[in-house]
Amino acid sequence: MTQLLTVNNLSVNYGAIKAVQGVSLSVNRGEIVTLIGANGAGKSTILRTIAGLEKVASGLITFENQGFNRMPSDKRVQNGVVLVPEGRRVFPGMTVQENLQLGAFSVKDKHQVHAAFDTVYEQFPILKARLNQDAATLSGGEQQMLAIGRALMANPKMILLDEPSMGLAPLYIQKIFDIIENIRNHGVTVLVIEQNAAQALRIADRGYVIESGKIIATDTGEALLVSDDVKRAYLGSD
Ligand code: ATP
Repeated sequence: MTQLLTVNNLSVNYGAIKAVQGVSLSVNRGEIVTLIGANGAGKSTILRTIAGLEKVASGLITFENQGFNRMPSDKRVQNGVVLVPEGRRVFPGMTVQENLQLGAFSVKDKHQVHAAFDTVYEQFPILKARLNQDAATLSGGEQQMLAIGRALMANPKMILLDEPSMGLAPLYIQKIFDIIENIRNHGVTVLVIEQNAAQALRIADRGYVIESGKIIATDTGEALLVSDDVKRAYLGSD
């Protein structure tokens, strides 16, 4: 089992707000790892900091043994780490194909871009059927697929998914979880934040429970799913 991503004693602040306080976690190659916790616990901040969008106050992020702390976010994409942000952020006035093309901005080799289009269209036939439509005309679930497809266009080794099922109809929520498993089965490692904690834990190899900027529990997805503490705090009646 090789460690792909290591986060060691990470702290991140927004001014006086200590959003992340001494978080250590790791993700092994080929794993699905999930971060669960209440709103405002610091999950998005952890993901955004790994992607290079927030500044490390202290601690160390390494990916494939390379120091990430001072690397610009586009360089992190080139090194294989791609974030799918919360709320999808597709470009509504651009077509599906144009949105996907943007995801490949860091890929220089044209053949590789073609191959990436083929892979994405194979995984998301709905995007292929809509390739000349503006992204604005897609449903929420289809836009989430587009956002994930766009991330895959960069040939990532690891994708960071920030609440991929948020705001989606139940039918699409299940689909998104199937897609996440499918992505992993294609060799891409996944770190995912989810509000639907139970569903996330069901597909995750391991999970971390975040509370007020700190990790309060970590275990296999299976074990967290049946933990009384986790059930009481995060799983509700689900
Ligand atoms: P959510 O599920 O609501 O996104 P989260 O667990 O992802 O929650 P974060 O979004 O990482 O939590 O927020 C952690 C803390 O940092 C919260 O107290 C939040 O209010 C604060 N915070 C997040 N972004 C900013 C920002 N840009 N400026 C100031 N404070 C922020």
